[in-house]
Amino acid sequence: KLILLNGELLSREQASIDIEDRGYQFGDGVYEVVRIYNSHFFELDAHLERLERSAHEIKIKLPFTISELKQRIEKLKKSNNVHSGHLYLQITRGVSPRNHAFPEKAEPVLVAYTKEYSKEPSRIPGRAMFTDDIRWLRCDIKSLNLLGNVMAKDDATVKGYDEAIFHRGEIVTEGSSTNVFIIKNRILYTHPANHLILDGITRRKILSVAASLDIQVKEESFTKQQLLEADEVFISSTTQEVRPIIEVDGQPIGNGKEGDVTASLQAELERHISRSEK
Ligand code: PLP
Repeated sequence: KLILLNGELLSREQASIDIEDRGYQFGDGVYEVVRIYNSHFFELDAHLERLERSAHEIKIKLPFTISELKQRIEKLKKSNNVHSGHLYLQITRGVSPRNHAFPEKAEPVLVAYTKEYSKEPSRIPGRAMFTDDIRWLRCDIKSLNLLGNVMAKDDATVKGYDEAIFHRGEIVTEGSSTNVFIIKNRILYTHPANHLILDGITRRKILSVAASLDIQVKEESFTKQQLLEADEVFISSTTQEVRPIIEVDGQPIGNGKEGDVTASLQAELERHISRSEK
């Protein structure tokens, strides 16, 4: 399988990253993960727009247009003959002698590759734990700096949970690599898209799908207690889609099974995915 490095398609052995790439030394870059269903990218424009925004927020100027980028990744997907899986794409500030301040001259470095996997059963209900949100205050940027996220996820994994759900004080923000939703009295709640969470592409899709199903949506924050007392809880992401959470910190949510609203959102999202595949 080939790797896209800037404008070139190379084998993994040929592709090399400089030891002074700022992505490697500082996590100074941004990334996206885009799902591929039936050989088509899902919600590609939304992902590339978010990438452009993330880059802009950390003052990385993309050395190519979005349509050039699209051409390159389409070529990569075709060369690798990916049917189902995802594209990983990252852009770093580039290579420069190590110094915290942004270099005056550095060419951003683009790396992208694909992963093939069958459409996995992301449906399996999961169990989560709460964890203190110790991350920075720009979680809206999809930055390569993921230590806060990976430490939380590792803690959850070691303790036998499927996801770590962050909270700042009593307020639930998001999961380690997912957005978090609760349903109470058939109203869907999720944290507003501000600097404390990543505005997930799946999150946005779910909000529009909910509106089309006449499910009332409130982009309002909620507390840990409200989550524990919710009728339903689920998490969302590009790779996990909609995943029910049936237990948090050992306490069952609702009746401890996947709820109706979650199931209908899942089914409707699925219809959108199938339609996009054509
Ligand atoms: N929140 C965080 C911290 C994430 O890392 C992710 C995705 O990886 C999400 C939310 C979900 O975003 P998306 O639906 O765009 O995959």
